[in-house]
Amino acid sequence: MHAEQAAADSPRTLFDKVWQQHEILRWPQGPSLLYVDRDFVHEGAFHAFGDLKRRGLQVRCPERVVGFADHYVPTKARDIAGAATPAIAKVLQQFSDNARWSGIRAFDIGDERQGIVHVAAPELGLTQPGMVITCNDSHTSTHGALGAIAFGIGQSETTQVLATQTVWLKRPSLMRINVTGSRASGVSAKDVMLAILAQVGSAGAVGHAIEYAGSVVAAMSIEERLTLCNMSIELGGRCGMVAPDDTTFAYLFGRPFAPDGQYWDAAVAYWRTLGSDPDAVFDKEIQIDGSAIAPMVTWGTSPDAALPIDARVPDPERLSGAERATAHAALEYMGLQPNTPLTDIAIDRVFIGSCTNSRIEDLRAAAAVAAGRKAVVPAIVVPGSESVRRAAEAEGLDQVFLAAGFEWRHAGCSMCVAMNGDVVAPGERCASTSNRNFMGRQGPNARTHLMSPAMAAAAAVTGRLSDVRRLPTRKRA
Ligand code: SF4
Repeated sequence: MHAEQAAADSPRTLFDKVWQQHEILRWPQGPSLLYVDRDFVHEGAFHAFGDLKRRGLQVRCPERVVGFADHYVPTKARDIAGAATPAIAKVLQQFSDNARWSGIRAFDIGDERQGIVHVAAPELGLTQPGMVITCNDSHTSTHGALGAIAFGIGQSETTQVLATQTVWLKRPSLMRINVTGSRASGVSAKDVMLAILAQVGSAGAVGHAIEYAGSVVAAMSIEERLTLCNMSIELGGRCGMVAPDDTTFAYLFGRPFAPDGQYWDAAVAYWRTLGSDPDAVFDKEIQIDGSAIAPMVTWGTSPDAALPIDARVPDPERLSGAERATAHAALEYMGLQPNTPLTDIAIDRVFIGSCTNSRIEDLRAAAAVAAGRKAVVPAIVVPGSESVRRAAEAEGLDQVFLAAGFEWRHAGCSMCVAMNGDVVAPGERCASTSNRNFMGRQGPNARTHLMSPAMAAAAAVTGRLSDVRRLPTRKRA
């Protein structure tokens, strides 16, 4: 038997099946050249478009490149004139101009399909199982929730993808994270991810493609799987994936860019073959007891600095070496004292949004907590897409938030990264549903605590980090 035939017959992982379909060539011991099914770009790709123009190149497959205005868009207005500064307006204008020049489809500010690329692309059916997807954004791992190999690329790689529809990538090692048992009531996908981060660490998956599996993952909705895969990069992973199943197919059916008619049946028949074979081998396997996970919050300046809400701020003196120094620096930045109960930490504002947690299920979870209560600190709700915004308004969620004193905004990245002018003030402490709590992420000297939408809403109505399962009962109207 030839070696290639033997390899094809041996049990394969989901990752391998997709990879092998897209590998054009491989250098010995080096990277492989992969075909890219979809390249998504946001406003930050202006360098790559500039590069193309300087070199006299065109976009090779404009029908396979899709643009989303998200990082710089204002969330209080729906046109470039509403940009916070002339510099931001210039970036937004460049995005429009580059899309027009290159002939790519772009969901620009004002388009009813505009939204954060990692929210809008799946909901439009642009993200599909078995694809290789790239984007000039580190949270491209999100799209793996539907069974795609999806990863972020830098400026020079974006130029290459735009010019050739291919990208070089060294095949990563494979890691499977099995979340077993079943989630307790009040425990969200975000809590599961923060618990994984606390156990595996922010460097635990460096050099790996991650497959999430186990009963907890199998029972998750696609929106929850998107939350999970979104933060794969926070584990150091190259990408994160979940095997496509009936939940995936039901989610995709009828979406604008999903296959339809006879193509739908053929696509599903193929997608059903993609799951990892029973005896497929991973380089690393991690077991997480999903039944033991509680609502989580972060206390430090890295997403793996996460603890159950009923825990206390760690004491760096109980740690050693580099961990101790890191914890000291984190507590100093965060303005926290060791051993403080997490539920004693007062917050200044709340952000519900970002590509991690701004989908309709997220807004429903937050609204269920906000209903009949009042925010005691400023709180903004930023839907991940205009489509999510419309769906929320159709359900009356906007009215729930407004009645509770939350602000209701238009779609964009907003306070997740503070590029559009939505900023957390220096020294302020923000309860945030985003994915990064790095120093300065939400603004210079801003302090970020990551959590789920329900936990963020609980923080808004109590003014401190709170266990959503133990909120005081609502006052009668
Ligand atoms: S919401 Fe935040 S993490 Fe997601 S793409 Fe936008 S800036 Fe990046």
